[in-house]
Amino acid sequence: MSDDKFDIPFKSPTLPAMLTADSKIRFSCHKGISCFNACCRQADVTLAPYDIVRLKDRLGMDSEAFLHKHAVPFEMDHDGVPGLKLKTDDQGACLLLDGENGCSVYEDRPTVCRYYPLGLLSMRQKESAEAVEQYSLIKEDHCKGHEEDRELTVAEYREEQGCAEFDDLNREWYRLILKKKSAGPAVGRPPKTSLQLFFMASYNTDMFRKFVLSENFRASYDLPESTFEEVAQDDVALLDLGYRLLRQALFGEKVLPERQGVWEKRVGERKEIWEARTKAEQEKWQEEQEKRMREST
Ligand code: SF4
Ligand code: SF4
Repeated sequence: MSDDKFDIPFKSPTLPAMLTADSKIRFSCHKGISCFNACCRQADVTLAPYDIVRLKDRLGMDSEAFLHKHAVPFEMDHDGVPGLKLKTDDQGACLLLDGENGCSVYEDRPTVCRYYPLGLLSMRQKESAEAVEQYSLIKEDHCKGHEEDRELTVAEYREEQGCAEFDDLNREWYRLILKKKSAGPAVGRPPKTSLQLFFMASYNTDMFRKFVLSENFRASYDLPESTFEEVAQDDVALLDLGYRLLRQALFGEKVLPERQGVWEKRVGERKEIWEARTKAEQEKWQEEQEKRMREST
């Protein structure tokens, strides 16, 4: 196994042992346990795109308002790929914790909260392009669930916590991050516009919807009308289009068909900008030369 891995939660205090779906863990979390809500009072929850869709819908907010009220940005790597965490109060408690009642959005809680005390690791073998999912066990002193008398497999725990739907709808995004990490300097630091696109397509679904339904986008990509109708209504279809667009923007993969002549038009536009810039620089240089000559005479 290579070092290339992406883990949710980010930089978690995990035990080194790698678990598979068949591995057994001893754990139970329930109302009445002495540590109930202790984990949510020290929340460190990295958000994936489908987590945000579920949470904003649950809270009846648009993505912009959700990000403003409930998310904190961080950088996922040295190239500034943007990540988000759930916002906490000054003591570290999740804002979605409802006092002693527990999680106020339990049915729509994020992936990290579902998996806890497991961590999900997406890893890539050196000789393979395919990612494999493994798990790690997080043992923190405050969590007494490990002392409970219940043994089950990782697969059983994932099913109990409803992880599969979240993994299915976030998987392509994990792959993007893993690919970016594996490629290292070969891909280099993405331009600022690509990082902005990553943020919008991953997290700000309402803004991304406006972007893909715009005349400019339609004029650039040759997609069937049914795709636009679908993304106008459906956040999951929108995420899927976003993942494909990001593969194109970050790695140059030709995933979405571009309209004929768009590339030439773009080069043409850039040529005009380049020529205008060069002309302006030449004029400025000439002006400076003339000014210097005037001053010296
Ligand atoms: S979202 Fe819910 S489960 Fe997750 S940290 Fe917040 S209160 Fe706890
Ligand atoms: S057992 Fe662990 S996961 Fe459950 S409430 Fe206590 S600290 Fe949180």
